[in-house]
Amino acid sequence: MSIQYTNRAKPVDRSPMTFVERLYLWNILKGMAITLKHFFSKKATIQYPEQQRPFSKVFRGLHILNRDEEGRERCTACGLCALACPAEAITMEAAERQEGEEHLYREEKYAAKYEINMLRCIFCGLCEEACPKDAIYLSQTVTPANYTRKGFIYKKEDLLIPNPVTEPEAYQKALGTINREK
Ligand code: SF4
Ligand code: SF4
Repeated sequence: MSIQYTNRAKPVDRSPMTFVERLYLWNILKGMAITLKHFFSKKATIQYPEQQRPFSKVFRGLHILNRDEEGRERCTACGLCALACPAEAITMEAAERQEGEEHLYREEKYAAKYEINMLRCIFCGLCEEACPKDAIYLSQTVTPANYTRKGFIYKKEDLLIPNPVTEPEAYQKALGTINREK
């Protein structure tokens, strides 16, 4: 006894094939007509990277560790971003600012090490929202592909934005630009 799970079952015609049917000519022509139809219809694919699709208005890209207007690191290694991260993707080590380092770090404590595991990150932006120092934000740069897992562990030197005072062009570039939806 056969069980019918849906009402979409179609009876199969099991009568022997005619000579014309056995030539498969009609089916070949039908297949070619479908191919031809798709040949002239609008393409679903694009020629990336020359062509790029517009990104959503709320697109969130690669993280950036920000500097202030004097070029000092903003992050004070408070750990709030790591605490807010639902994917537990952020780890850091804090260090105390020494005398003479005031031009490097804005606060008395700074992140000596800062890592984000992009394989864990879900680009939710909660780290950015949790940060009281405006030190981390998600840029408009698409996170690049990589061949190794190690390549997705972004260290502080990968995340820290170039100094806006000494490298204004590189700073601007690091902010990233994408083609947003209108
Ligand atoms: S964007 Fe979300 S998942 Fe990614 S590091 Fe920030 S808080 Fe974690
Ligand atoms: S990025 Fe912001 S929230 Fe995270 S440790 Fe630095 S200052 Fe704190």
